[in-house]
Parts: sequence; C-alpha cells; structure tokens
Amino acid sequence: MTEVVVLGAGYAGLKTVRDLQKQSGDFNITLIDRNSYHYEATELHEVASGSHHADKISFPIVDVIDTKKVTFLQDNVEKIDCDAKTIQLEKTGSMSYDYLVISLGFCSETFGIQGVRDNALEMVDINTANQVYEHVLSMMKKYRETKDANLLKLLICGAGFTGIELAGAFADERKRYAEIAGVKPEEISITCVEAMDSILPMFDRDMAQYAMDVMEKRHITLMLGAKIKEIQEGKVVYTKGDDDTTKFVEAGTIVWTTGVSGSHVMETSGFAQRRGRVVVQSDLRHPNYENVYVIGDVSAFMNPENDRPYPTTAQIATQMGKHTAKNLAHQLKGEATEVFTYNEQGTVASIGNTHGLGKVGTKSLKGYPASAMKKVIVDKSLVDMGGLKELLAKGRFDFYH
Ligand code: NAD
Repeated sequence: MTEVVVLGAGYAGLKTVRDLQKQSGDFNITLIDRNSYHYEATELHEVASGSHHADKISFPIVDVIDTKKVTFLQDNVEKIDCDAKTIQLEKTGSMSYDYLVISLGFCSETFGIQGVRDNALEMVDINTANQVYEHVLSMMKKYRETKDANLLKLLICGAGFTGIELAGAFADERKRYAEIAGVKPEEISITCVEAMDSILPMFDRDMAQYAMDVMEKRHITLMLGAKIKEIQEGKVVYTKGDDDTTKFVEAGTIVWTTGVSGSHVMETSGFAQRRGRVVVQSDLRHPNYENVYVIGDVSAFMNPENDRPYPTTAQIATQMGKHTAKNLAHQLKGEATEVFTYNEQGTVASIGNTHGLGKVGTKSLKGYPASAMKKVIVDKSLVDMGGLKELLAKGRFDFYH
C-alpha cells in the first residue's frame, strides 16, 4: 500500500487531505499535527482580545476527515530526511513515507531582537492567543490593586495586517477591559509601534491613509518610524529615524507581531531555505524530490511577474492544498503533475468588528463592506476546511459579529 504522509493540519495540509480522501486508489493517508484541532489562523486576534472564545475559530481534526481513509496522528515533527524518505516524530519515532506533503505552517519572526521571547507575548496559535487574553485580563485586575497606569497600556509591536487587526479587536473590547480595571474606556491605551514611516505598503496611499484615519478615530496610537531594538520587561526600546539614541515606551501588555517565518523544522532538516521557506517548482514539488510537496507558509512560490515569492496567506495556502491533492492523485495513477497558478482573489483586513479595508479584484473596499467581506471570506474558508457542518456549528451568519 502506498503511504501518503501530510505534515501539519493548517489551511494547506488539511485542504490537501480533505480533497485527496475523496479519491479512490490503493493508498493510505496519514495526517500529523502537534494539536488535535485545526484553527483559523486569520482569526487569532479575536481570541487574543477575548472577542471570541477559542471554540469559535477551531474544531477537532478528526471531525472533518474520513477516518476510514485517513489516520490522524497527534505528534510533533522534529526532522525530515527526504533522502531516506523518513520523518522523525517526538513520540512515535521514525516513520517512512512514499509521498510527503510538508505544510508545517508559520512561527513568529524575532529577527534576532533581544528579549522578544522572554518579554513579549506572541500570537501564533490557540494557546498563545489565549495567553494574550489572559495576560490582558490579569493586567486589568492588577490595576485595581496597584493603580499603576502602565498596566492599562496595550502595546503591539509591528503594524502589519496582524498588528492592525489585533489593535482593532482590542479597541472593540476596550470598554470591557475598562470595567474590569475600574477605569474609563479612554484610559485604556492601545499603541502600534512600527518601523516604517507608513503602513500597509501593498495598498495605495489613499487606502493606507484610510486605515490610519480609522485607527485614529478608534483611539489607536500609531508610532511610525520607530525601529524596535530590544524588549525589556514591560518596556519596548526603539530608535527613531537616523538618530541612534534609544528611547523606550512602557506597557503592561506587549504583543509581538512583526512578521512570520516558516516552521523551524525546515532549517533543522537542512533544506535550502530563507526564513523557513523553500522555493518550490511550478507544480509545488521540491526541486530535488519528486515525491515531496512543500506548501503553505513553509513554501516560497515565485510570482513570475516580479520574480519574488508570493506573500504567505491563508488564501494561497488553501489553493496550494487543493492543487497538491490534485497532483498527488495524478502521481498515484502514474500521470504527470500540473502547474500551479495562484488565483489572487484579493486581500481584506478588519480593524475591529465593523471596520476594515481591502482590495477585491480591482475594487477597493472600505468600512463596513470590507469587514463584511472579510467575514464572507473567513466563512468560505471554514467551509473549505470543515465543511458546511462546521460553519453551521460556529453559527457565524451575523455579520455584525
Ligand atoms: P508583516 O510582515 O505583514 O508586518 C509586520 C510589520 O512589522 C511590518 O509593517 C514591519 O515593518 C514591522 N516591523 C518589523 N520589524 C520591526 C521592528 N524591529 N520594529 C518595528 N516594526 C517592525 O507581518 P504580519 O502582520 O504578521 O503578517 C504575516 C503574513 O500574514 C503577511 O503575509 C500578511 O499579509 C498575512 N496576513 C494577512 C491577513 C489578512 O489578509 N487579513 C491578516 C494577518 C496576516
């Protein structure tokens, strides 16, 4: 029996499995993930702010796979050896495969900046998002006893999509945090510290300005041109412009969202990679191994228009998963693989529950239509990952929440 092993049950891996399990043939699929659940990584900010309970953005993997065709193994992937066709797992030990799909997802990028791991919170999965929320709550409760104003300060490092979406979600919950702390909502400060002089370089200036205006209206402070150099306990140390003199800003909650890299397993396994991403062939396979696909956040798929890899998003990961299932089905039947083309459907980001911005096709979206569109996209993705059953279970039809 041919063994197909899929590493990681994020958007890319789970989509591969859900499509491949529908194919008939003499093969087994083993899906491996360190968690027993799939989570919607695009919605982690909702859990970190406490707007949503973790159950609302996650579901058990075994609920959405065909367990007659797929074996799910909860284990931690430590290393991959493509020459020996084996993987090393923390609990199970060594395991061999005939075909491998590497879709191990992302981790937060520290760029070697000191103190990040020890003094800032990350938001990369359900556990860490929950930790952010619990931390915020504990700071608000502590304020009641100490009256230390720094405890009311929420500081986000980086104003990319993740940072902006988190700031918006914090702003939605500001009133609730204030009640816990026993202060007025305006006393809870929310700040994004950003190295660049502007935000969202992928949008035109008008859209970026719109995002900045919304943030200002929502009393989110943007510190632009502030390059973070170090994180100390309760303190973000930065420099401004060409001036090398360090300054600092204090906060009880510091969240690190300055970008992501692919899983560390890629480097540990000796792949030629940059920030955990491996450049793949046009059919999504590794250039040296015809039985290995590298997809999702560990993959660098080049955009022929600018010769740069496409940014890592849930959208491209899901399309890669779909294509990989198709190509594996071809290979299992002894047929040739097909070239992957990314169908970019647009980018939409929320700034809280009813504000947002984005681009769909040539159309720019602002305000409520953008935030409603984001919910449509997230719901469509939930159907892709968990089927209609999961969408119904999550009850996400109210576009105001
Ligand atoms: P990002 O790289 O898009 O943004 C990180 C930001 O942090 C940048 O603006 C960068 O200038 C800033 N930064 C980096 N180092 C810094 C430093 N030392 N000091 C101050 N600022 C610093 O990363 P992200 O926001 O985590 O997003 C990761 C990926 O996920 C991106 O490809 C993004 O497009 C995608 N994403 C998409 C959505 C969406 O489509 N709605 C939402 C979240 C993330």
